[in-house]
Amino acid sequence: MAVSDNPICKLLAVDDEPEICEIVRDVAQDLGFQVETCVEIRQFQDTFDCFRPDVVLLDLVMPGGDGVELIEYLAKIESRSLIILFSGMEVKVLRAASQIVLSHGLQLLKIMRKPICLVELESIFRTAIEIHRPVTNQRLLDGLANNEFEVFYQPKINLLSNHIDEIISFEALIRWNHPQRGLVLADDFIALAEKTGAINEITRFVTRSVCDQLGKWKDQGFTISTAINMSAHIISDQEQTQFILDIIEESQIDYSQLVFETTETGVMENIAQVAKTLTKLCLKGISLSIDDFGTGYSSLIQLYRLPFAELKIDKSFVLEMSDNEEAFNIVRTLINLSHDLGINACAEGVETLEIANMLIAMGCESAQGFFYSKPVPASEATQLLKRQNQRSEFLSALHKSG
Ligand code: C2E
Ligand code: CA
Ligand code: CA
Repeated sequence: MAVSDNPICKLLAVDDEPEICEIVRDVAQDLGFQVETCVEIRQFQDTFDCFRPDVVLLDLVMPGGDGVELIEYLAKIESRSLIILFSGMEVKVLRAASQIVLSHGLQLLKIMRKPICLVELESIFRTAIEIHRPVTNQRLLDGLANNEFEVFYQPKINLLSNHIDEIISFEALIRWNHPQRGLVLADDFIALAEKTGAINEITRFVTRSVCDQLGKWKDQGFTISTAINMSAHIISDQEQTQFILDIIEESQIDYSQLVFETTETGVMENIAQVAKTLTKLCLKGISLSIDDFGTGYSSLIQLYRLPFAELKIDKSFVLEMSDNEEAFNIVRTLINLSHDLGINACAEGVETLEIANMLIAMGCESAQGFFYSKPVPASEATQLLKRQNQRSEFLSALHKSG
């Protein structure tokens, strides 16, 4: 039976045996997939680029090449297709190939051994359909109720320090441990949550988790601040803002340990109400940071009047600043602008040492990005803090003895 309440899912079956391709096609089409097949390795790139499949079933052994080349191609184009590895080789070989898929950051759906088992194939395709199904508001709310969400922490690095990776604070970023999809990034559901209002519950969940974590860190001797992303929906709604403040009050966390990040576009949409709320938060002791700066249309006068302590330069400029002169100039201009306004600049999306060095030379105060660390679960963030502590203890002992 075709699954009709789903956008069409596209499958590319790659196998040098045409009969296998036909069996796969029959099973997949019955489930509602649109299917293309490819029996020769040299057709793969063209077929893939033209068809843009959601799922690729890949035979690892093909005449004239091997599956590893195809995996490398998918990695090169940063494909998000789900990959099913398929082969008559030993399980050991399939496992090794699956490691290659994962180490390239590709999405492995399943490994499957020949001979083909129709029941197994159908079950794998049903999982693919489930993963492909767009997130719904109800599913978000169920996920919250089922404890499927988790807060990850990305370190923010002090660029003014002598140490290359001194953590000054963290940013809390929500993740969804989805039972079928695996780890889902915020980018894949925050926009929907903002549209439907589920963002209110998500933000309360994140605030509770962060306050809880700050308490645990305090017990371990770490007093560090953490930034929480606050949508315009929260900041422009007095009742929602109050719910958040109540959570902080109850947790007895010091307000000064919290930073609220809110996007430039969000701030400008409802400036009168937002300005009132921001001032109230600031008076409580919460620091404010303007996020994704450079993507909206702030008026400098409005910006000047709002109590922001930091401007976060959008990663779209930072990512490109080493190869794109315009991006480089924009980043430099935004750093200078923040300094002219008397606030700090933080660059997000720093992926290379070269970019980190450019930012240091420009006087940018802090940075975040994969070069330093990806967002990590709380337990790993704790390890980062412990390592940093051990290093400073070691250095101060060295200093004393020298
Ligand atoms: P953001 O606040 O600008 O967060 C930075 C995003 O960039 C994060 O994506 C982070 O994982 C990613 N990132 C960090 N360093 C790098 C890097 O070096 N390179 C690249 N390419 N990306 C990097 P994520 O976690 O998917 O979050 C996306 C957006 O979703 C966030 O953008 C934020 O606006 C929103 N978001 C995340 N968590 C929450 C939340 O709890 N509440 C609200 N309202 N929004 C959230
Ligand atoms: Ca942010
Ligand atoms: Ca941002």
